[in-house]
Amino acid sequence: MPLCRLSLLLALALGAPLSAQAVDFTQAELARAKALQQRLLTLDSHLDTPANLARPGFDILHRHDHNALSQVDYPRMLEGALDGGFWAIYTDQGDRSAAAHLAERDHGLLRLMEIREMLAAHPDRFQLALTADDAARIKAAGKRVVYISMENGSPLVADPSLLGFYHKAGLRLLSTVHFANNEFADSATDPKGAEWKGLSPAGKALVQEAVRLGIVIDHSHASDAVFDDLATLLPVPFILSHSAAKAVFDHPRNLDDARLRQLAAKGGVIQVNAYGGYLLDETPSPERKQAEEDLEKRLGGWDGMPIEKGVELARGMAELDQRLPRRRATLDDFFVHFAHLLDVVGPDHVGIGMDWDGGGGLPGMTDVTDLPKITAWLQRRGLSDAQIANIWSGNVLRVMRQAQDYAAKNGAK
Ligand SMILES: [Zn+2]
Repeated sequence: MPLCRLSLLLALALGAPLSAQAVDFTQAELARAKALQQRLLTLDSHLDTPANLARPGFDILHRHDHNALSQVDYPRMLEGALDGGFWAIYTDQGDRSAAAHLAERDHGLLRLMEIREMLAAHPDRFQLALTADDAARIKAAGKRVVYISMENGSPLVADPSLLGFYHKAGLRLLSTVHFANNEFADSATDPKGAEWKGLSPAGKALVQEAVRLGIVIDHSHASDAVFDDLATLLPVPFILSHSAAKAVFDHPRNLDDARLRQLAAKGGVIQVNAYGGYLLDETPSPERKQAEEDLEKRLGGWDGMPIEKGVELARGMAELDQRLPRRRATLDDFFVHFAHLLDVVGPDHVGIGMDWDGGGGLPGMTDVTDLPKITAWLQRRGLSDAQIANIWSGNVLRVMRQAQDYAAKNGAK
């Protein structure tokens, strides 16, 4: 069977519209899309960019093109018409020893400080957003929007009361867990499997306190049983800040259609992710995996690698693509997930969380300058400007507004 015919059948089997297969956009389409984005409020719900703030040589005001370590900076946000988003305090999951918990506590606080330092250093370019309405005001003032989020609750294990401090310092979105189980929740991807069968008692207390404060809960990375606990426990909707569709690629990190419908029925939102390994099986050969690790090690290791080495890293990866090619998700695959989510829950329950600077991005969608392709694709599908506005920010801000209204009515300051 010719390949194109096969992909057509696959697209039909997956319920994807044929337009999802045509991702070559004309200059006119992209210009129209960018113009619309400039009028709308555009937010990405999962920016791992704070991980770069302390990286030697990184400057958020400078352009870092063709650099494997960077996909987001101020000049490229302007070019891609991205107004801002949720800037993540991400923490690696440690070994759960007392020493690891203290190291994670310190790491989270330092990352928070780095975000606040960025805001303090560039008050004319970036501004902290605290309420759902702040984002539009900040855009109108000509600045980029910075909501603060936390990916992995491990910095709170040693002292959960720090959540109140984080909230005062601007935290507005919280996920419980990352690649492996922790004291709060089971991860979708822990090789050991379930430990708590959802949220632990401490995890339940944590999310209830977050809800009391008006912090939105983020389910991405947690297990399906955690989803079920959140759906039962929470009096407000919640989101998945960067996730994809299990019906398209059966990965534990993705959400199945029944839970997608439950999420939407509760008023929640799934923000579509561009991390290739969640869009299809990208597992590299052992040789390729080793070669990538060797390359990274030769350049000094990912953490703390000076930003200029990212150019060499990008060149090295391109050379590996020639010598030891590996299967990669494409922009087509991304749009198949996006189309499926839109088909299942509709445009009021889907948003955008690409995982920039955290492993997201695809050929043809390599950094934030490519974002108008998303809008062009939505326009091709015939979505209205109002629907596109909701996808770009209205939906996630609706959830935040509900969380904050609930907190205001229930006694939190
Ligand atoms: Zn993530």
